Amino acid sequence: MKCRVCRGPAVIDIRRHNANFCQEHFLRLCRDQVTKTIAEFDMIKPDDRVLVAVSGGKDSLAVWDLLLDLGYHADGLYLGLGIGDYSDTSGDYARAYATDRGVRLIEVDLPTEHGFDIPTGARAVKRAPCSACGLSKRHLFDKAAHDGGYDVVVTGHNLDDEAAVLFGNTLRWQTDYLGRQLPVLPARHGFPKKVKPLVRLGEREMAAYCVLKGIDYIVEECPMAVGNKHIGYKEALNALEAESPGTKHTFYFGFLARAAERFHEEVEAERDALLSCQRCGAPTSNEVCQFCRLSERAAGAQPVKLGAKRSASPA
Ligand code: SF4
Ligand SMILES: [Zn+2]
Ligand SMILES: [Zn+2]
Repeated sequence: MKCRVCRGPAVIDIRRHNANFCQEHFLRLCRDQVTKTIAEFDMIKPDDRVLVAVSGGKDSLAVWDLLLDLGYHADGLYLGLGIGDYSDTSGDYARAYATDRGVRLIEVDLPTEHGFDIPTGARAVKRAPCSACGLSKRHLFDKAAHDGGYDVVVTGHNLDDEAAVLFGNTLRWQTDYLGRQLPVLPARHGFPKKVKPLVRLGEREMAAYCVLKGIDYIVEECPMAVGNKHIGYKEALNALEAESPGTKHTFYFGFLARAAERFHEEVEAERDALLSCQRCGAPTSNEVCQFCRLSERAAGAQPVKLGAKRSASPA
């Protein structure tokens, strides 16, 4: 197996590019793909203050590393979600990376600062854990970006994630979600700009990137992900990709080029109708935002035990 660029020994094959790469040229490929994505979608300006949502997993640590190597001013934000040992361990990886590179990691701990954890909150509002978690993360990212004066929030969603979400939204024709599923959401109505610079890179490439750069990350899946439909969508797409490399890329980038725009109107109308939450001031379509309603309901709820210790408070 030889590198497509230098003909030296390759360390990875990427079937959708029909090519192999050595370490140096694979890392360069990752940087080039991120640079191209940032330019193509006008994601980040050179002097922007960037906040990277860091979970301790491979994608978020890789995107932070790539942005730092490309010279961006990027701080990290870690949210402690109170998901037992998983939160403890993922926080350790995020902190270790920040210390190693000498960069700033902001921490927000949901149990300490808002009085509930995800398993308890989800049960209190009878939502799936990932749904309660997703709305909490969006709220806390927006707030941290607003409070810290950041220009843009970066998440580590990769091509596999975006294709799987698109697949799920399409299967159910969730047109409001389809209208929002873009690599860039501009800042407006109190929401910060949000970007996904890894949409040209796959899950396997991000794992390889971390291994080759010596970045330690949490490998275990979140225990709340069990039964999550997203995993099934990924498996279905992996089966299609194995038969026909490039399927995920064609599906996702074809959607962006030829279909996404058709769903914009619905999202615009929704955004224009936004109010300010009476409790916290966040933009919302109701008098009280979903996060404040979740916090209120979770406040009096019996804590859910995961059979593991709760996330520790941040230092
Ligand atoms: S798997 Fe679900 S509960 Fe776990 S971190 Fe992700 S969104 Fe949150
Ligand atoms: Zn090479
Ligand atoms: Zn609120």
